[in-house]
Amino acid sequence: MDEVYYGGVEAGGTKFVCAIGRDAQHILAQARFPTTTPEETLSKVADFFAEFMRQGVPLRGLGVASFGPLDLDPASPAFGTIRATPKKGWEDVPLLRWLQEKTGLPVVIETDVNGAALAEWLWGAAQGKRSCLYLTIGTGIGGGLVVEGQPFRALSHAEMGHLRLARLAGDTFEGICPFHGDCLEGLASGPALAQRVGEPAESLPPTHPAWELEAAYLAQALHTLICVLVPHQIVLGGGVMKQRHLFPRLWHRVRASLNSYLPLREVNESIERYIVPPALEPLSGVLGAIALARRAQEREEGPRTAELGVEGDRQRIGKRINESDRGPRTADRGMDDGGRPSTNRGTNQRIKPQTADRRPRTADCGVDGGRTGFPACQGRGTDRQRMGNESTNQTADRRPRTADCGVDGGRTGFPACRGRGQTVNEWGNTHSFIR
Ligand code: ADP
Ligand code: ZN
Repeated sequence: MDEVYYGGVEAGGTKFVCAIGRDAQHILAQARFPTTTPEETLSKVADFFAEFMRQGVPLRGLGVASFGPLDLDPASPAFGTIRATPKKGWEDVPLLRWLQEKTGLPVVIETDVNGAALAEWLWGAAQGKRSCLYLTIGTGIGGGLVVEGQPFRALSHAEMGHLRLARLAGDTFEGICPFHGDCLEGLASGPALAQRVGEPAESLPPTHPAWELEAAYLAQALHTLICVLVPHQIVLGGGVMKQRHLFPRLWHRVRASLNSYLPLREVNESIERYIVPPALEPLSGVLGAIALARRAQEREEGPRTAELGVEGDRQRIGKRINESDRGPRTADRGMDDGGRPSTNRGTNQRIKPQTADRRPRTADCGVDGGRTGFPACQGRGTDRQRMGNESTNQTADRRPRTADCGVDGGRTGFPACRGRGQTVNEWGNTHSFIR
């Protein structure tokens, strides 16, 4: 078999979705397993991939998009471990290590929602948008944000499901979050709905009054998230959002709640295109996992052709961000990050890579990729544009990198490190670009 494939796992509180593929158009196989004990569930996952590898399917890596909370600190001994989850039996499960050991593949890990946001941004409902917020309303509630192809993380991944909400008058349901009681997840997740009404959420008719409560709490959360993140596109997935009647309720409530305060056409004029279901459902999460594995492997070996790379996918769909900003960068008068004159010449040359010895490294950088099997970060640098602004550049071996994190994507589970920075046009406007 000539083609390269990647494994993806979407780890959910109710089910694990596994798939083998390359992108949204090329899925070779998929399977679902109920989430039972970690041993049983992960053995089924490993067996699924082992069977295809036995048949000669050349898997190059495995991506995992998992429920959390997850330890995603590459310096932590518990890197890739599920932390204080309400899901019984899953706390402290070293998901990344187990899957590495059981499959023998290099593994990258992200949150389920960052994975889903990435897939929807690459191939789904947020194609062509600069950023995508993906919220899942399922067994739990979580949110992921991708900005220009980069899943957002700071100290850790975001925990958008545990926002505090203003309780609706007359609602005495105490909420089910073991940590906060009546946070968003405690009031509006699938199990919260079920406990509130005494039957599974999927069996409630659209006319049931619980749906108005549900919409009211979700709209409050969306109000907050839109104010904080102002994402370019919002995608709502997860089992509960299969109740499509929730969407018009949310459009109405969110618009009313924001009350024209934000001068956004997306909210005020076309909210039905702004808050949408996933285009890749039910595979958003697992496709995100595949994208992460593919980016990690391509970072190591380079895409086989521009068209085959994840970057190529984005180009092919004609959705490059700020394409005009990626024009020639004259660095004749620029300085490299060490204050030395840049060696770049001419208007069409890329910034010259630095040599290995002079690679600047952040405190986090320079770690090896041994823990995941994916390659190590080679460092990052900056170069001064002719307007005096700094721009990140690439290293001697031209391996792409993540400008923000400065650490190896394989270890952190960050996607393809293409590097990004800013440039300034003739009129003095600053633009971001990504490579
Ligand atoms: P996971 O959380 O494992 O990723 P889901 O996103 O499917 O899985 O979420 C499962 C939750 O969604 C359960 O609480 C279930 O009751 C609820 N759910 C599933 N399908 C529906 C439906 N059609 N309508 C309402 N709730 C649903
Ligand atoms: Zn909570």
